[in-house]
Amino acid sequence: MVLRMTVGLALTAIALAVAGRRLWWLKRLAFTGQPAPERVAAVRAHPGRDVETQATEVIGQRKLLKWSVPGAAHAATFWGFIVLLLTIIEAYGNLFSRTFAIPGIGHWAFIGFVEDLFAVGVLLGIATFTVIRLRNNPSKEGRKSRFFGSHTRAAWVVLGMIFLVIATLLLYRGAQINTGVFPYKHGAFASEIVGHWLHPLGYGVNSVLEVVFLLGQIAVVMAFAVIVVYSKHLHIALAPLNVLFSRRPNALGPLEPMRSNGKVLDFEEADPDTDVFGLGKIEDFTWKGLLDMATCTECGRCQSQCPAWATGKPLSPKQVILDLRDHAFAKAPYLLAASDDDREKLPDDVKKEAERPLVGKDGGVIDPDVIWSCTNCGACVEECPVDIEHIDHIDGMRRHQVLIESAFPVEAAGMLRNLENKGDPWGMGEMRRAEWITELDFEIPVVDGTIDPEIEYLFWVGCAGALEDRAKKTTKAIATLLHTAGVKFAVLGPAETCTGDPARRIGNEFVFSMLAQQNVETLNEAGAKKVVASCPHCFNTISREYPQLGGNYEVIHHTQLLARLVAEGRLQPVTPVQEKLTYHDPCFLGRHNKVYTPPREILDAVPGVEATEMHRCKERGFCCGAGGARMWMEERIGKRINIERIEEALALEPDTISTSCPYCLVMLGDAVAAKKSSGDAPDTLEVVDVAQLLARSVRSEVPAVADGDSGADGAGPAGS
Ligand code: SF4
Ligand code: SF4
Repeated sequence: MVLRMTVGLALTAIALAVAGRRLWWLKRLAFTGQPAPERVAAVRAHPGRDVETQATEVIGQRKLLKWSVPGAAHAATFWGFIVLLLTIIEAYGNLFSRTFAIPGIGHWAFIGFVEDLFAVGVLLGIATFTVIRLRNNPSKEGRKSRFFGSHTRAAWVVLGMIFLVIATLLLYRGAQINTGVFPYKHGAFASEIVGHWLHPLGYGVNSVLEVVFLLGQIAVVMAFAVIVVYSKHLHIALAPLNVLFSRRPNALGPLEPMRSNGKVLDFEEADPDTDVFGLGKIEDFTWKGLLDMATCTECGRCQSQCPAWATGKPLSPKQVILDLRDHAFAKAPYLLAASDDDREKLPDDVKKEAERPLVGKDGGVIDPDVIWSCTNCGACVEECPVDIEHIDHIDGMRRHQVLIESAFPVEAAGMLRNLENKGDPWGMGEMRRAEWITELDFEIPVVDGTIDPEIEYLFWVGCAGALEDRAKKTTKAIATLLHTAGVKFAVLGPAETCTGDPARRIGNEFVFSMLAQQNVETLNEAGAKKVVASCPHCFNTISREYPQLGGNYEVIHHTQLLARLVAEGRLQPVTPVQEKLTYHDPCFLGRHNKVYTPPREILDAVPGVEATEMHRCKERGFCCGAGGARMWMEERIGKRINIERIEEALALEPDTISTSCPYCLVMLGDAVAAKKSSGDAPDTLEVVDVAQLLARSVRSEVPAVADGDSGADGAGPAGS
């Protein structure tokens, strides 16, 4: 008894010391990052919401269960380990007393049954993981495997350790049954089966096996604890923390303002020597950013959904997180050194690591092509089971590259210049913003001063909607439909300027602030309360980013308003539109803002329309390639994202591809044009906004929409 107690406790003490030292080191490393007081404040402000999040995301495994087979296997393993905490209590109790039972419940057959049930569940879980890993072997599948780039050897070690945890558990319990000290008379079915196998060995051998496998169980559990804190399985300990401090409801939608030393950066007072401008080195990340890196499970779900990765670009959101983590760990001795003298004494490889640029072509931690490939589509954030905030990190690095290094794709310089000087990406100027109004046969009030109290909605047209030929057709269709439904609306006309979305997404927070402040001032002075936006990027920026600057409005997307008008009978689609079509979800409407249903309701209401879904739709929708200011950059690497998307649509043989975003309209339109010219798409195939389809079907007192072409002629996407 004394021997088993001594060995068991000694093993535990050593393992806890090693694991504790590592955890202390990780904590010190995390706090070399920037402060993030807003994250702590958010947690304190919403304790109820946090409990709910832990219950659904961590305990409920919500995101993991979206992937049915691996999700079920993970849930079985995770829940199994929670239940098996009872068996660990029993194992430690058995170090002190062979007949130990948990006080109160320790002899209930139900508890014995549940313990064994979850032990078997864990075994089934790891068997499933084994099959999944063999079938998704990156050395055979290459980039197609979601484990490509992950540390697969460590994953196999952990699977082996989990097997040993369960194997030693069942073996010592089986031996206990044969020596008569097992606390459960019935219920522990798996232990009873193992006990049956061991029974022929007799009492003496079973007594020895009881001790050997009990100590084996404690040794394996403790070794597992050490491996966890030194491997990707650190997520077991960190995932609940990372989920707790993540942005709520998620890190989609708005970008956060730039912060330095825990405060929102004021460009007028900022000092480049002491303030942090975006993410220029690993210690510019907040502790939450560093926690993200340590929490990554390397599951590759993000990578499997990334449109950049799917089309052969160098960007994998998983690899970004892993490269940052490897760099943070390698630079850690430098970051944790107490003084410059101590840093001088560090090994050369650490000093070399400390000097590596965070983003750079030669020897940088992250290749510039990686950060510029991101479309900010949000697929990675949506999928990540531990709520890692990839877009914030990628756009944070962009901010530093643009604001401090002046290093960004040259072709985007014109867009930024036009935004600064003319207020729109094409440089067409404010006077052309109202031209589309003259192409309609009814009056639209243009706000001059304050909005007339009779006006219900301010129609935010957006740069593309006002100036780009294809998007102008959507604008005119929306205006016509609102007019038909008797909705009182007005536009800002020349007083509207770009929301700043492309500037913010490319990393030029300075230009974004300038444009956004100007718009917020205009909207506030006009007394705007309800805004309807036709562009999902404008919709996202005005509704979820302008509150950061004091602009608070009730903002809806045109599909939400039109769907409501149809439901209320104020718009009646009666003319059949006999077309087979498929709907493309814009990322900034769908994933970023969860507006999936209204566009589909509109299509369902149009008689004759036969709508079919693409394989990748709704929260798994595939980007058109324009977001994250990619609209203004060349796409030189890999396959074009819009072509990949259109090929998916073409497989359904549609007559029409519909969407609800001017960026998507242009990108998909360009891809269709390319496919038509190569003979791979019928000449009749159209790409239209759902508003255009609705307008074709609604009986209108107003003459048909005029399609005058007097704007930016597809000058949108660079290289389109
Ligand atoms: S936002 Fe989209 S493009 Fe960017 S890394 Fe995530 S999945 Fe890839
Ligand atoms: S970032 Fe999230 S989704 Fe991607 S590999 Fe890591 S844990 Fe998985």
